[in-house]
Amino acid sequence: MTLCDWPSHLAERAQACRASHLWRHRNTRQPASRRRDFAGNDYLGLSRDPRLAEAMAKGARDYGTGARASHLVNGHLAVHEALEQRLAELTGRPRALLFSTGYMANLGVIQALCDPRTRVFQDRLNHASLLDGARLSGAVSRRFHHRDTADLERLLERSPARHPRLVVSDGVFSMDGDVADIPGLAATARRHAAWLMVDDAHGLGVLGERGDGCVGRAYGIDEVPVLVGTLGKALGTAGAFVAGSEALIEHLIQFARPYTYTTAQPPGVAAASLAALDLLAEEPERRERLHALIARFRTAAERLGLPLVASTTPIQPIVLGDNATTLAWASRLAERGIQVGAIREPTVPRGKARLRITLSAAHADDDLDALIDALAECRDTHAATGEDTAT
Ligand SMILES: *Cc1c(COP(=O)(O)O)cnc(C)c1O
Repeated sequence: MTLCDWPSHLAERAQACRASHLWRHRNTRQPASRRRDFAGNDYLGLSRDPRLAEAMAKGARDYGTGARASHLVNGHLAVHEALEQRLAELTGRPRALLFSTGYMANLGVIQALCDPRTRVFQDRLNHASLLDGARLSGAVSRRFHHRDTADLERLLERSPARHPRLVVSDGVFSMDGDVADIPGLAATARRHAAWLMVDDAHGLGVLGERGDGCVGRAYGIDEVPVLVGTLGKALGTAGAFVAGSEALIEHLIQFARPYTYTTAQPPGVAAASLAALDLLAEEPERRERLHALIARFRTAAERLGLPLVASTTPIQPIVLGDNATTLAWASRLAERGIQVGAIREPTVPRGKARLRITLSAAHADDDLDALIDALAECRDTHAATGEDTAT
């Protein structure tokens, strides 16, 4: 019997991954990088706002750089409490619960609500953290076709009504930028006494009259009983929250392991999030600027004949199909000083590799022009060498 040795095991996996153009690299960014960033999720340009940095520093001076303990021991600080109240208010829910990251919030909610008796129904394009949460809970998961409530209805009809059922969807889909059919999901879930959970990581701050997201105050807890939002995207800080009824939040405090068994978020981060919520309310022009840029980008990209997705959000993917072409476009853009995400499987389905372009209120008109020019160049170059890359 040959013993499996780890070095050759790793080498084999690496080799297979590189051969399919799926090996990933990190780019180290310098603080004063002059690269044009069309890859991040800083939709309102808040992450570089000096007022947030100042709030973060003050939070650290007032409370310490770390929270020193988990929320249930003695790490739950007044600044966390204040942030939870503001998030509940923003989303029109009785309560909100702060988590250290969105990934943990999603693991925590699904794990706390579900067990092997529960049935979880997920949109096929849901974020990895939602799929992982269902896996952690041991629940039986079903995937419905993207944004297809008729397919969801069919799956719900087939599942035994004696099991508690949870329908889960991204609000704004992170790799496509399109928005879930919230009223359709809510009505379908309600007909089957299922709860609806929406993860609005990319809608919060961007959509809704007050930046309250694609659910926010437009849909109450009867329609969307479980609402997740994250703070590391449009709000420019870090962390996440779950908003809902008193009973839901108390349940999570008791049973969500990713809530219980981790140190509370650093107080400076929570203080910065409070400052970001102030700016969200006081500077609606950031959202207006963002939506004007989205419209300009789409008009220009359509004129170039680029394969856009029907997205009204700052996530504007260009679906190129194969991995090698996607990498070729991304590296040409990088040579022009423009960073975009080159997204491949398993983040998106095989054959749907894409550039994930994201817009931000912090972009200048010049930045957008440079992006469009560089994309035009990619399109022309690709047409010339298409046979080499379109494998
Ligand atoms: C980014 C993201 C998360 C994870 O949030 P983090 O705070 O970065 O861990 C969860 N859900 C969706 C849809 C996301 O895009």
